[in-house]
Amino acid sequence: MRYKSTRNSKLSLLASQVIAQGISEEGGLFVPECLPQVKEKLPLWRDMDYRSLAKVVFAEFLTDFSLEELDECVEKAYAPAKFGGGEPVKLVPLPNSPGNEHLLELWHGPTCAFKDMALQILPHFLTKSMGKSAAGKTAVILVATSGDTGKAALEGFKDVPGTKIMVFYPKDGVSPMQKRQMATQEGENVGVCAIEGNFDDAQTAVKTIFTDQGMKQALLDKGMLFSSANSINWGRLLPQIVYYFYSYLELHRTGRISSLEEPINIVVPTGNFGNILAAYYASRMGLPVKKFVCASNRNKVLADFIRTGVYDRRREFFATSSPSMDILISSNLERLLYALSGEDSQALTGWMEELAQKGVYEVSPLVKEKLQALFYGGFCDEEATAQTVRRTWEQEGYLCDTHTSVALDVYRQYIEETGDGETPAIIASTASPYKFTQHVLGALEPLETMEEFENLRRLEELTRTSAPRQLLALRDKGIRFTEIVPKEQTAAAVRRMLGIG
Ligand SMILES: *Cc1c(COP(=O)(O)O)cnc(C)c1O
Repeated sequence: MRYKSTRNSKLSLLASQVIAQGISEEGGLFVPECLPQVKEKLPLWRDMDYRSLAKVVFAEFLTDFSLEELDECVEKAYAPAKFGGGEPVKLVPLPNSPGNEHLLELWHGPTCAFKDMALQILPHFLTKSMGKSAAGKTAVILVATSGDTGKAALEGFKDVPGTKIMVFYPKDGVSPMQKRQMATQEGENVGVCAIEGNFDDAQTAVKTIFTDQGMKQALLDKGMLFSSANSINWGRLLPQIVYYFYSYLELHRTGRISSLEEPINIVVPTGNFGNILAAYYASRMGLPVKKFVCASNRNKVLADFIRTGVYDRRREFFATSSPSMDILISSNLERLLYALSGEDSQALTGWMEELAQKGVYEVSPLVKEKLQALFYGGFCDEEATAQTVRRTWEQEGYLCDTHTSVALDVYRQYIEETGDGETPAIIASTASPYKFTQHVLGALEPLETMEEFENLRRLEELTRTSAPRQLLALRDKGIRFTEIVPKEQTAAAVRRMLGIG
C-alpha cells in the first residue's frame, strides 16, 4: 500500500513515512492510493474480538509493518486494563427511541473521550514508523486542541521514548474538566499552553509552525522533527475505521441485522470531520452504509456546506456546550472532497486556496450531488442540546454527553425529514457525560454551584450512575501548567519548550 497527497497525486510514500511526516510538504493530506476491498472478509471477521479485528484492518493499510509489530501496537494500545476491562467499545441499543438507534460508546479509555481510540495507538505507530524512516530522531508532536484531543494525546505520548509533545488549547474554549485534565498532566516530555484565541486560531498557529522552514531547520540541527497527532495524521484516522466494522458486526452477532449485506445509517457528532470520514472510508471498503448523518452544533458550517455546496467560514464563532465541535475549518473534509472529485488535486488545491484567502469556496455541481447522495447534514442549537440530554435521560434512562446529544437530535431531524426510522443506526457516542458535567447536570436541573467536583457528585447522586475513576482522580492532582500566550507568540512558546533559540 502506497500513499499520495490530496494536493499531489504523484507522490508515492509508505505508511511509515506518512505517519512520521503527518502532513504533506505542499500542505495536502495523505490518503491511501486505493481502499482495500473487504466485503468478502466480513463473514470471517464477524466473530473476532476488537483487538484481532484491529490487527487485520491495520494489516490492510500498514503493509510496511510486520504482523509482529502490529500485534505489539494493538496489544499495548487496547490493553483491557486501559479501557475498564473487556472490549474497548460498547454498543448500547436505545429501545424507546423513534429510530432503530444504537449508541456506539467510544469513551471508555483513559481520558473518557473517543479520541483515546486513536491516540492510544498513534504513539506506537509513530515510534515504529520513525524507527523505519528516521531512526534516532526525536518526534516533536504539536497539537492544537478544542479540548479532548489534547488530553488524549498527552496521555498517549507521555513518557514514550523518542517523543516530545506540546499542546495548545483556546483559553476559554474548553470545559473546566478538560482544562484540569490538561493542567495536571504528568510526564517528563509534555508541555501545555493556553492560547488567547479560539480553536481555529490555535490550529492555524500550529499549522504555520509546521510549515516554517526556519523552525524545521532549527529542529533538525537538534536531531528532532515535527510530527502531528491532529486528525490530519493518517495514523489517527486509520484506528477509527476499526470500530465501524466492529459495531456493524456486533449488530449481526446480536441479531439486530440479519445479513452482512444489510445497510445501516451512521450518525456522527462532527467537528474536524475525522470520525465521520473514517466511517466513509469503512463504507468504501465494503461496509454497507445507507446514509452518513453529519451532526453539527451551532457552528454549523458543515451542515450548511452539505445543503448548499458552499463552504463559508466567514461567520461568527460560538463557544457552545459541545466545545469539541466548535470548529469552523474542518481539516479532514479535504480528504472527502478529494475522493468525491475523482481525486482532482488541482480542483482541490484551488478550493483550499480560496478558503485560505477568501474564507469561502463552492464545489462543482457534480461534487455537491455526490455529497448529498451520501451525507445528510443538520445542526442542533444549545437549547435542543440540553433538551435532548434531558429527554434521553427521562425516556431512555440513558445519560449522554452534550456532543452525543447533538448527534441524537440531528438524527431525529433526519428521521422526521425522510421517514427513515427503520434502518438500524449506529450513533457515535463520543464522550462520557462526566466530562461535561456542568452542561449535563445543568440540562437536568438548575445548577447551584460552578464547582466542578461538587456538580460531579450531584450528577452521580441524581442519576445513580458513577463518574469514571480517571476523572475523580484529577481532584487531588497538582496543577503543573498555567501558561497563557497571545496566538502570535505560539512559535516562541514552542522554541522555549524545545530549548531552541
Ligand atoms: C473531537 C470530538 C468530536 C468531533 O470529532 P471530529 O473527528 O473532529 O469530527 C466530537 N465529540 C467529541 C466528544 C470529541 O472529542
